[in-house]
Amino acid sequence: MTKHGAVVVPEDAVAAAAGGGRHFSFPPPRTAAMGGGGGGESCKKLAAQQIDLGAAAVVTSWLDSMKASSPRHRLMAPAVAAAGAGADAEHDEWMEKHPSALGKFEAVAAAAKGKRIVVFLDYDGTLSPIVDDPDRAVMTDEMRDAVRGVAARFPTAIVSGRCRDKVFSFVKLEELYYAGSHGMDIQGPTSTKDDSSVLCQPAREFLPMIEEAHAALEARVEGVIPGAKVENNRFCLSVHFRRVDERRWGAVLEATKAVLRGFPRLRMTQGRKVLEIRPSIRWDKGEALRFLLSNLGFDSSAAAGDGEEEDDAFPIYIGDDRTDEDAFRVLRARGQGAGILVTRFPKEETCAGFSLRDPTEVKDFLRKLAATAA
Ligand SMILES: [Mg+2]
Repeated sequence: MTKHGAVVVPEDAVAAAAGGGRHFSFPPPRTAAMGGGGGGESCKKLAAQQIDLGAAAVVTSWLDSMKASSPRHRLMAPAVAAAGAGADAEHDEWMEKHPSALGKFEAVAAAAKGKRIVVFLDYDGTLSPIVDDPDRAVMTDEMRDAVRGVAARFPTAIVSGRCRDKVFSFVKLEELYYAGSHGMDIQGPTSTKDDSSVLCQPAREFLPMIEEAHAALEARVEGVIPGAKVENNRFCLSVHFRRVDERRWGAVLEATKAVLRGFPRLRMTQGRKVLEIRPSIRWDKGEALRFLLSNLGFDSSAAAGDGEEEDDAFPIYIGDDRTDEDAFRVLRARGQGAGILVTRFPKEETCAGFSLRDPTEVKDFLRKLAATAA
């Protein structure tokens, strides 16, 4: 690595620029965080740019994609088991491109030196293991301690597809930012449960439509296909198929598509053993990351400018899902921080620069990170 702290890792997302000297306050000033002020304006503006994907978002390769992105499926797939040494070589090559964030911890810490670390954490599969019943995806006390330790030193946000209240009920830490519903419902640190510290809700107008779609999916998917579960995440819906017999995954897909034909302003994306239904607005975990950095006073346009006011953020984003790629992509585009993909399986494509194997490694990484700032 250089003296400026760049990590010598091929194609990683770690920036090399030296840290600036801008005053940093955490928690951020309340005036900027209340009532949709500050970054809230850009939130509304971006939300106005609605796109109409409608039926076009539904493509024939969905079923293959559902199977390919399911780790358990990959584990059990005879083709993978038979691949033997070939699979090992593929794994090694992937790990070279996306090395362990624990193994490269010193390099990451050196790159972050002098910068303002901001931590973004996905929930399911990152802080808690993926379990059959999504309502039981609790995190351990050890993990909570690790997150608390990081949040005591750096601004920390949970960015999840789940509804904000649900994620909070799992995490139970008031000092965090919570970006629920794939970032469409962002709240700052607060000890109150009301909406006074809500920072951004770009899809508010979609709420009645989402309620209606939720009822239809309950009746026509959950009520018909054994094991299917529809979760209302307030600004988006999740159709979980982790407990559905794999031979019926196609039925889940077809039934969900059939419901969505009645809601052309909603679109479908896919996560790990889940179909996600959300408003067709330009908003995702990447936009949430951008919004939160801006809200904390880090402006990417300053980084791209003449250098007079350097953006000295070092965002660390840890997630396991396809929807986290939007955030990894933003980090890569900004040339900032570190994207860390949580996976036990080498994946062909990710914009993350690093990897961790499972939530236990995430916990170890968070502990180390908190210790470096102690
Ligand atoms: Mg996840």
